[in-house]
Amino acid sequence: MVGRPSESARSLGLALRARCEEIAADVLSRWEKRRSDPTPATERIRDDVRRFCRSGTEQIAHYLIHGETASAEQTASQATPGRAAANQSVMLSDLVKMHLYWRDVVVEVLGEEADRLDSDPGALELAVRAVRVGSDSALVRVAKVFDAHRALLQSQLEEEQNRLSHQALHDALTGLPNRVLFLERLATSIEVAARRSIHSAVLFIDIDRFKSVNDIAGHAAGDQLLIGVARRLREVLRPADTVARLGGDEFVVLCENLYDVQKEAVAIAERVCATVAEPFSSTGTELFTSASIGIAFVRPGDDPHVLVARADSAMYMAKQRGRSRWELYHPDFDERTTRRAELINGMHRAVDRGELVLHYQPVKDLASGGVVAMEALLRWAHPSLGIVAPTEFIPLAEETGLIVDIGRWVLTEAATQCAAWRAEGYERIGVAVNVSGRQLEDPGFIHDVQAVLEATGLPASALSMEITESVIVTEGSIGHEVLEDLQRIGVRLAIDDFGIGYSSLAYLTKLPVHALKVDRSFIAGLGTAQDVSIVSAMVELAHKLGLEVVAEGVETEAELEQLKVANCDEAQGFLLGRPAPLDVLRERGVLGPDRLVARSLVERAD
Ligand code: C2E
Ligand code: CA
Ligand code: CA
Repeated sequence: MVGRPSESARSLGLALRARCEEIAADVLSRWEKRRSDPTPATERIRDDVRRFCRSGTEQIAHYLIHGETASAEQTASQATPGRAAANQSVMLSDLVKMHLYWRDVVVEVLGEEADRLDSDPGALELAVRAVRVGSDSALVRVAKVFDAHRALLQSQLEEEQNRLSHQALHDALTGLPNRVLFLERLATSIEVAARRSIHSAVLFIDIDRFKSVNDIAGHAAGDQLLIGVARRLREVLRPADTVARLGGDEFVVLCENLYDVQKEAVAIAERVCATVAEPFSSTGTELFTSASIGIAFVRPGDDPHVLVARADSAMYMAKQRGRSRWELYHPDFDERTTRRAELINGMHRAVDRGELVLHYQPVKDLASGGVVAMEALLRWAHPSLGIVAPTEFIPLAEETGLIVDIGRWVLTEAATQCAAWRAEGYERIGVAVNVSGRQLEDPGFIHDVQAVLEATGLPASALSMEITESVIVTEGSIGHEVLEDLQRIGVRLAIDDFGIGYSSLAYLTKLPVHALKVDRSFIAGLGTAQDVSIVSAMVELAHKLGLEVVAEGVETEAELEQLKVANCDEAQGFLLGRPAPLDVLRERGVLGPDRLVARSLVERAD
């Protein structure tokens, strides 16, 4: 459209330019009256519309005056109202209406001016054509802007939807898939496995003693550890394997397409054990941990939940068998689960029904051979399952909290019995009871101990409480206060299973402890396979710290001899007397007159 404008067109252009403002105001008022969007237009939108009308009209005027289209700059400004309107969610139909009003108004004004100026018909025709072309191209631009804006909103919406669905299927801490997604993938895998005879395995991974990490190092460190574990799991597994966090310190892995399923699953489990056992140093301090793993194989027709439960019970077995190891699921494990449920159910009434029994094992003074105390060891005479060992039901009693009631019963029973022995003439005999961490946490514990001592008349110094090393270390500050209270009362404290936990002797000296019970693993084989030097060193150091040392689990004469060489104070074990109920003890005469002399020679440091 370049060429010399006629004189007529030029004056038409000048006239049009003079009425720019008026045209804009007219378009705006028509547009506002007829908008399809009933909410009032903001001042910004009205400004946009005004600006558009002005620049559109100016462009037509420019063309009529100069015979050329407006500069790119001016053209670009036409698109602005489109974008601004789109951003402010003015409907496209509204903008189209506005364009049409503008076109109508400009054409009307041109007609009026052409009449007034008496322009030649060619000039008016040219002007109207320019308006139509300008309007059409502006509309196309606005539509494009709208389209781009819509696409942007669409992709933002999709992103948000993805984020939400990711959130629903992933664990926020580690970013790993969660239980829902894992079970979904497992279900698919089971289906595929059935159709294509593919072998897959589920690994259930639990971090050993994770609670201690949280208790000792704090929750932030615990979280860092979980994040670290998640990262290492990803590193040692193939990209196609699914690693998920079920919650807490439990992770599951789905390994598909295994060729030799057992061999490969075990190899994966070993890799996981090894990587988790490496120290974690994300929080500045080094944390050591390990993993217990249960493995279950996917079989056609399996239920995903059942499969995870199988891997879980195999994991539980791995824990039972010493932690930091893996176990393959075996159907026998299910029986264990049933038994576990049966034990938990029955335990509620065990105390009331008198199903609990204490066996007693003598603790002997190594120098004189006399019995200095009896350790009370709990048994449960279950009505249908027979005698249940404490190693089996005490962890369950701890889980359910029933240990508090059970422990109170043990304490009362043992103190009563010890007072009775003393009344029978064994004036110096003491009694040792085992105490769980959960009992120490019970706010009524100290009160219970005092009440029992009062009721039985047993001197506090005759009562020894055995607390395992791991409990002392992990229970943190709650434990310490209680221990100090016990010391104030005068109760003796012994660290049970000493040597297998992580405490240092130096740490223990900060606690009001009287004795160490060296774990059986240090005693077994003394004099043959086991070197006595470790025990000797323990005894020497303990003595320097003012602690007595009791050796546990002495089974052979050789072990006994070595313990004497090591200068150990007291000992306990099958060799010196098996744990037995009261009637058997009486028959055996463990506390009989033949021992009286020896015992009376013993001076205990009360
Ligand atoms: P513990 O306190 O370390 O008790 C020693 C365990 O070793 C006892 O097992 C005892 O029967 C066994 N033992 C004693 N001498 C020998 C030996 O020469 N060789 C071998 N191989 N074993 C020996 P038991 O009675 O099955 O008790 C197991 C654990 O259950 C105890 O370990 C203790 O931690 C816990 N426990 C027992 N009674 C109670 C209780 O009343 N309350 C609490 N909280 N825990 C208890
Ligand atoms: Ca004990
Ligand atoms: Ca022990």
